[in-house]
Amino acid sequence: MSLSVEIDLRHKKYKEDHTDIKVIDMHMHFVDFRQNSEGYESLLRSMKRGNISKNIIFGLPVKKKWEFFEPLEPHYYLGDNSRCTYYNATDEVVASGFLKLNKKQKMTIAPTLCGFDPTDMTCIDYIEMMFEKYSIWRGIGELLLRHDDLTNLTQGEVARANHPALNRVYTFCAKKRIPVCLHQNSTCVASSLSNLYKNDYEYLHELTESVERFQDTTFVWAHCGVSRRVQHPKYHEMINGLLSKYHNLHVDLSWEVYDSTICDPGIVARENKYQPKQEWIDLIEEHQDRIMIGSDLCGHFDSHGKTMARYNSLLKKLSDEAAQKVASGNAEKMYFHAFDTIRSPDSP
Ligand SMILES: [Zn+2]
Repeated sequence: MSLSVEIDLRHKKYKEDHTDIKVIDMHMHFVDFRQNSEGYESLLRSMKRGNISKNIIFGLPVKKKWEFFEPLEPHYYLGDNSRCTYYNATDEVVASGFLKLNKKQKMTIAPTLCGFDPTDMTCIDYIEMMFEKYSIWRGIGELLLRHDDLTNLTQGEVARANHPALNRVYTFCAKKRIPVCLHQNSTCVASSLSNLYKNDYEYLHELTESVERFQDTTFVWAHCGVSRRVQHPKYHEMINGLLSKYHNLHVDLSWEVYDSTICDPGIVARENKYQPKQEWIDLIEEHQDRIMIGSDLCGHFDSHGKTMARYNSLLKKLSDEAAQKVASGNAEKMYFHAFDTIRSPDSP
């Protein structure tokens, strides 16, 4: 059983199916790796069931190709040896459905733009064209940069947070006062497998170089830079240090980081229970203005409520003020409030 199937099954079997307090899901892909989606109606239903008041949604910048040498059609990027290719139309899928929503529904969804090759020096042209075409975008991302197996399976140059092609994207975000969300592994998978590398974060400088250089840009670091097999015994110390140093840096606790790093992974695997470690509770309390939660689902929403309900145990352990900010306040401020004062969400 692949790790992705294992995580998905675990979340589907989780006993709680809605959050105790209203939350905003800050990290969701509207499509899967074949660029298929259950659609907005299904998403809105799952939000209601799960007590999820609002959702930030993005497409997926890459599409899994079905290459002729594979006898069966793949459904996930890790499914076989077929490569992934960049796929602009993901943004059209997100936009065309969004524009059909009524005014009230639009107020609950914040779409962001992601469908471009982040190593193409001309990618800014596409971004400017899409912002001109649709005035719905409330951010850029999730850009898939250093991403272990996905990087290996994506055709073209290795994408990274300090790639020169992204300089103009970061400047664009600062000018528009919108956030950019990045998937950038903090290190390579070998770091958790080999003692040789275990004290290093091999790819971290690629992120910090850009965060430091573009101080007027708001960065959201997806899953705190954790991915499958990306581990470090003192991970919270690194995150604490970066959040203290860079005030334009924010993180989300979606996907793998909550199961494998913030909570005790043994208890998660054995009992399907989520017990956040005290050092993370302290960290989240301290940096409560710059931390958000999300599901990281891709195109299929039946486990939406259960995936978000994992955070009940964390939110309960925080002060009321911190819990409210992490659950919804920070995402509201970053993706909804600022935008609503600039333009009406009803405009096309
Ligand atoms: Zn994601």
